[in-house]
Amino acid sequence: METFGDAGAHSVSVEGFSVGGWQTALTLKPWAMSLDAGLAFRNHARAQTLLVSHAHFDHIGALGTMLTMRVMSQMRQPLCIVVPEPIAAAFHQLLGALSALIDLPLPVEVLTISAGQRLTLPGLRWVRAYPLTHRVPCFGYVVGREVRKLKPELKGCVREELSALRGAGHEVTLPEDVVDFAYATDTTFAGLSQHHAFGGAPLLICECTFWDKRVSPSQADVAGHVHIETLKPWLSAFTGDAVLLIHPSQRHAPHWLRARCAELAAELGRDVRVLVPSTAQWRF
Ligand SMILES: [Zn+2]
Repeated sequence: METFGDAGAHSVSVEGFSVGGWQTALTLKPWAMSLDAGLAFRNHARAQTLLVSHAHFDHIGALGTMLTMRVMSQMRQPLCIVVPEPIAAAFHQLLGALSALIDLPLPVEVLTISAGQRLTLPGLRWVRAYPLTHRVPCFGYVVGREVRKLKPELKGCVREELSALRGAGHEVTLPEDVVDFAYATDTTFAGLSQHHAFGGAPLLICECTFWDKRVSPSQADVAGHVHIETLKPWLSAFTGDAVLLIHPSQRHAPHWLRARCAELAAELGRDVRVLVPSTAQWRF
């Protein structure tokens, strides 16, 4: 398990593991939010919310383990699971089968999300879904919160004036969405780059599966994934604060990926990191 602290503008910590075709599961603190469930671990299972990108088993295969961990930890709050609409019916069948197998109701609340839809989440956050391009239906997500901002026409008013307006029953603020992070895994580059929301997120957690010539950018595209050579120019135009690259192919060793990513970050002058273990080689 690898942890990144202070990734992005909000000092978020990302903990998890992600290898393409193998297992992907992440959890973000302080927001109690987990991303996919290709494996389960303690902090991952403690989340309030789980965002499911798609139904490949390396992204949902440990769902039963995650729910068992919650039951064994006596967590009473149901896990809020956000599921893309194209897979929602099958996902409900999966949960029904898991529940039948253990003869217990599962402590979950499933929220179906459609492309472009914005849903309110526990913890006063919201999520918006963006369809990606993969071999099966797959959604990326942008997550944020609603803050209250002073109405533009009231800028310059002193505190006493605002208090008087409030006292007279006037609303002095407007709601405004603030983005916290974006998550885009298992997609072609075209699927990622079509959405401007990803290119300016404070923290973008983004797949980059292929990193050398053994798989070409066009082969990566056919496989439904991103190649670093295609991603690099887009990263140079990224306007957010930090990018965390995930989902590398296991053909690339962790120590090589760290060195390659450090070169890339230096070349671009940006906070770009890759989620890999601190070991030289993969251990699984
Ligand atoms: Zn996939």
